[in-house]
Amino acid sequence: MGVGSASELAPVNANRLCLDFANLPYTSGDPLAHQTSWLELVEFLAEKRVISGSRSEELRELTETDPKAAGTLIRQAERLGNALRLVLGAMMAGQNLEPEHLSPINAILAITEGYDELQQDDAGGWKLGFRARHEGLEWLLAAIARSGAELIAEGAKSGLQQCSNPRCQLLFYDDSKTHRRRWCSMALCGNRSKVAAFARRHGGEKARAHHA
Ligand SMILES: [Zn+2]
Repeated sequence: MGVGSASELAPVNANRLCLDFANLPYTSGDPLAHQTSWLELVEFLAEKRVISGSRSEELRELTETDPKAAGTLIRQAERLGNALRLVLGAMMAGQNLEPEHLSPINAILAITEGYDELQQDDAGGWKLGFRARHEGLEWLLAAIARSGAELIAEGAKSGLQQCSNPRCQLLFYDDSKTHRRRWCSMALCGNRSKVAAFARRHGGEKARAHHA
């Protein structure tokens, strides 16, 4: 069964798109126990503003209009999620990264080739835009793969962390100045731990209010 907080769509801000993706219930934990559902994937992409609202409306229909394409992308999303968790876990454990574990990430990066070009903007001026060489559905995963690749390239000394609650597997990136963030979210694991610590202390001595 799920592990409580981690199995719900928790209000956890992991600070990196790839980590929010790796924390998704269906990509975290046992990869065989969770099937990525198309609607959950589309919802995630919309929530993270990888796609617009109108694009997400279109994509919701895809399991009916083009089930094969939707199925292919789901499998790619799962492969990407599994690769991210494996590689990030190895990084946190101080292990060397296996090239074959990185290949699902590189596979998505490979489709994002394209070129910059000058494009006319709405006001009649010119802007520098990006033209993709292939317009495939894999583009939906490009920003996630890019975010993962950047974090991996940063290396083990980056702010990559796992929640201090041993029963919580969620990953986050510690953006705080002091680098002392310990919990995936204060509301989920931080407070729970504080309450437990308070209960332990409270057994011995009365907690006194400080008027500092
Ligand atoms: Zn947690």
